[in-house]
Amino acid sequence: MTHILIVEDESRIITFLEKGLQASGFITTPAMNCAEATAIALDSNIDLLLLDLSLSGQNGLDLLKNLRGQGFQAPVIILTARNGIEDKVAGFELGADDYLTKPFRFEELLVRIQARLRTSQVPSEPKVSRLTHGDIVLDLRTRRVSAGGELIDLSAREFTLLETFMRHPDQVLSRQHLLDLVWGYGHEPGSNVVDVYVGYLRKKLGGNLIQTERGMGYRLVTSSL
Ligand code: CA
Repeated sequence: MTHILIVEDESRIITFLEKGLQASGFITTPAMNCAEATAIALDSNIDLLLLDLSLSGQNGLDLLKNLRGQGFQAPVIILTARNGIEDKVAGFELGADDYLTKPFRFEELLVRIQARLRTSQVPSEPKVSRLTHGDIVLDLRTRRVSAGGELIDLSAREFTLLETFMRHPDQVLSRQHLLDLVWGYGHEPGSNVVDVYVGYLRKKLGGNLIQTERGMGYRLVTSSL
């Protein structure tokens, strides 16, 4: 199922969009501010983002810049009453894929969404790049993970964490090192977010895969294969 994140601060418009998109077979999640939108975009499997620019004092362009900076790759369609050329240029420069001004017709939005989803599903790199570990296969191109042939549903962050472990099998990786690699520069030291996400991976892939090395960090175990 295709999952669309709707970033919009007017509940009337959210209701209108959700109703139409769900009737067209999409799963939708609304977010009314930048913090909420960032959390959902980075931690769920989002296929497309609809982005309003005037968000109750917050700027949707800042959100876009931030998300692209953190590796968010799904197509973004800006949906806004702001129709100045500066906003359009800034939007495209920051990584938007399309721009539609309000008021808009739902039919037009739907056609644009479908066009974007088609383009984004065309693989841009033909070379196959996959990592394997036992029966776990991680496809870097499609960003899909399977274990024993079964597709495992991972968020973008969980995927990157697993990828990091699989690139360093049997090595002890410290929490700080994982924070730097997966969450990026500027993350609060001492945060327990790594432990939380290792817990998520264990829940989805089995408890023995990632071993806790007391006082040092975590290790992707190969001996148990
Ligand atoms: Ca608005």
